Amino acid sequence: MRRPRFWLVCLLLAAAASPLHAQERLNIVASFSILGDFVKNVGGDRVDVTTLVGPNGDVHVYTPAPVDAKKIADAQLMIINGFGLEGWLPRLLQASGGKAPIITATKGITPLRAGNDADPHAWQSVANTKIYVANIRDALAAADPADAPAFRANADGYLAKLDALDREVRAAIAQIPPARRKVISTHDAFGYFAAAYGIEFVAPEGVSTESEPSARDIAAIISQVKTQKIPAVFLENISDPRLIQRIAAETGAKLGGTLYSDSLTDEKGEAPTYIELVRHNIKTLTSALAD
Ligand code: ZN
Repeated sequence: MRRPRFWLVCLLLAAAASPLHAQERLNIVASFSILGDFVKNVGGDRVDVTTLVGPNGDVHVYTPAPVDAKKIADAQLMIINGFGLEGWLPRLLQASGGKAPIITATKGITPLRAGNDADPHAWQSVANTKIYVANIRDALAAADPADAPAFRANADGYLAKLDALDREVRAAIAQIPPARRKVISTHDAFGYFAAAYGIEFVAPEGVSTESEPSARDIAAIISQVKTQKIPAVFLENISDPRLIQRIAAETGAKLGGTLYSDSLTDEKGEAPTYIELVRHNIKTLTSALAD
């Protein structure tokens, strides 16, 4: 009659060693670097976060590698942006055979429209980022209830920092004379920033970097810069700088530096976290426009 007890011990040992045990860190895949940063802030040391599109990568035109299928197959939870940003994802998911739940971090955000498409860059409004963070907090808590109190505490702390950041953006924009709140960026990534904070962005490329602007698009932008006296043009870390350099040369608009739209930089760069990305962008905008 000892045998049943022996098996019970084996089962308990197996349970303790299983990856579902509370001591294990939740393995999460985020589709791109900015989302990865949100997940790290909420998950803290109780999660392992990997991203598919890393620092300085362009999430619009990403070509997945075999290692990405492996990351997805190993994940316990996936966090994506949605709004059509990760067009390459469905095929990758199918190839990976991954079974992890997929959480869309923009759930509850009303998208801005760009023609027939949703503008995917909702994180450029800090108020929207707070919705991303709440969605991520709830997803992590559901996937790992034992660590839910820690996720809630981390999220509360990060949300307070985001409130402070939002105030910082508004104070910075207030320094720019209203007539000068108009700039050129490479692709149309700042629609939510524009709507939230009142700076007008004009871009030769659309909301995706997928299609190159035509000669006619570029000519139209150049004449717009001249007639509307747009004071500055900005580069992006994910895009070829030559087009913007050409617009600056042909119009005399100031080359205002680099704005970070869709990607963080690596640790040594100017925007290794979302908060630093937003701070860098407002510093770059105000120093080019405030005089
Ligand atoms: Zn973009």
